[in-house]
Amino acid sequence: MGILGKDNEAVSAQQIGHALQQMKKAHLDEGPPSLEKRLDRLDRAITLLVENSSALAQAVSDDFGNRSIEQTLLADVGSSIATLKHTKAHLAQWMQAQSFDSPFPGTTTRVHYQPLGVVGVVSPWNFPIILAFGPLAGIIAAGNRAMLKPSELTPRTSALLAELIAQHFDEREITVVLGGKDTGTLFSAQPFDHLIFTGSTSVGKHIMRAAAQNLVPVTLELGGKSPVIISRSAPLQTAVQRILTVKTFSAGQICLSPDYVLVPEDALEAFVALAKSAIAQMYPSLKDNQQYTSIINPANFERLQSYLSDARAKGAKVIEINPLNEDLSDSQLRKIAPTLVVDVTDDMLVLQEEIFGPILPIKTYSTFSEAIDFVNQLPRPLAAYYFGENPKEHQQVLERTTSGAVVINDVMTHVFVDDLPFGGVGYSGIGAYHGAQGFKTFSHAKSVLVQSAGGESNLPMRAPYGELTNAVIDSLLQS
Ligand code: NAD
Repeated sequence: MGILGKDNEAVSAQQIGHALQQMKKAHLDEGPPSLEKRLDRLDRAITLLVENSSALAQAVSDDFGNRSIEQTLLADVGSSIATLKHTKAHLAQWMQAQSFDSPFPGTTTRVHYQPLGVVGVVSPWNFPIILAFGPLAGIIAAGNRAMLKPSELTPRTSALLAELIAQHFDEREITVVLGGKDTGTLFSAQPFDHLIFTGSTSVGKHIMRAAAQNLVPVTLELGGKSPVIISRSAPLQTAVQRILTVKTFSAGQICLSPDYVLVPEDALEAFVALAKSAIAQMYPSLKDNQQYTSIINPANFERLQSYLSDARAKGAKVIEINPLNEDLSDSQLRKIAPTLVVDVTDDMLVLQEEIFGPILPIKTYSTFSEAIDFVNQLPRPLAAYYFGENPKEHQQVLERTTSGAVVINDVMTHVFVDDLPFGGVGYSGIGAYHGAQGFKTFSHAKSVLVQSAGGESNLPMRAPYGELTNAVIDSLLQS
């Protein structure tokens, strides 16, 4: 069965290595899978998700303590199915070789997309379904096999995923390796044909270092502080509603969650008032409200509390939006009310660390350039968001800041558009996937040239050099 590390059994490097060799052998023995075979694998992934959507959503909720079932069905299970269907619909076209013009008469040139072999996938806890099946869609489409190491922080979901994958796929198609950091360390040191990691920037560095030993190419999908800049021209109520819709989704535990907001000085008070009423409408209560998600584990709960203590100690105003003033101190519940932090200074953790929770620092600016400069003083984020109607400011956000993506007048929506490449830049990641980009990331783009019968392009290189070679050199050296 394609599961290693079941029932908390420790997995050794040898076991992972052996399974990988079996998968590599199957890849070489069976050759590149046909379109039909790839579609069949994508179909099996869809069936697995459709038939087990409720069980998966319940497992995720149990792992979180409470995660809104709707949020999992929408953004974790449902979006995985949508991605797999999009992949199926476009696969035949993506697999076509691409022809190019050649400067040499009679030759033909093309790019042939070849499967890489076996791709390793290391996934995080925050969206445990889509961050496994999103990469798998591209990996399967490109004709590869995959070995998946899901997160130990969602043990029920990871175990269920492993069971379901083992039921629907042969172990040489997909194998799941269960375990935590130590297993992740062994896993990322394997000689995969490609390794995709989704997780924190700090672990991303370990992954890249481990992969370097075998020159395994990596795609790193990391985190960071995605800013929202609110323009003076923005309809403030719309901006606040859209920002807080996403900030409270899964209690902000999203890589693309708006991390902090830059507002014009004179809009701060209105922003806070609008935020209070937006939260009261979306979440009239928090404590027993199953639609309001808990923080994944005690360590992350403590981490978020420590950001608030740090901000308070350094003079910030912390505004907890808790419409019924419920007591959320029960550490078993791990719920943190949506919290605004104002009067922030650059030395506070809320402006330094990725928040990954329902805390939103608000920094004010007087000139738009100040806002741009602040974004540029932090590492490059996964996304930058701008609310406003000023075309010059749009342009400045696009051209003067560097981020994985830019979204205007909304936050995060781009992740659901399969045709847009998804990835970070600098500290927020290396490489991209989703849609056609995913197919390309997990393929080897092999250049193929077929020489003409006369082989004319070969002749100028043939010694002894004379008239023909000199004529070609002359033509090349023209300005
Ligand atoms: P994490 O980096 O702690 O863990 C991710 C995975 O890496 C887990 O499977 C874990 O077991 C494994 N791991 C941990 N230490 C390892 C090591 N030394 N070597 C190899 N593997 C190791 O991340 P997390 O806490 O699960 O997720 C939160 C982070 O992920 C946030 O920073 C968030 O922004 C980021 N994230 C990014 C995206 C994206 O698409 N760019 C999506 C979701 C989350």
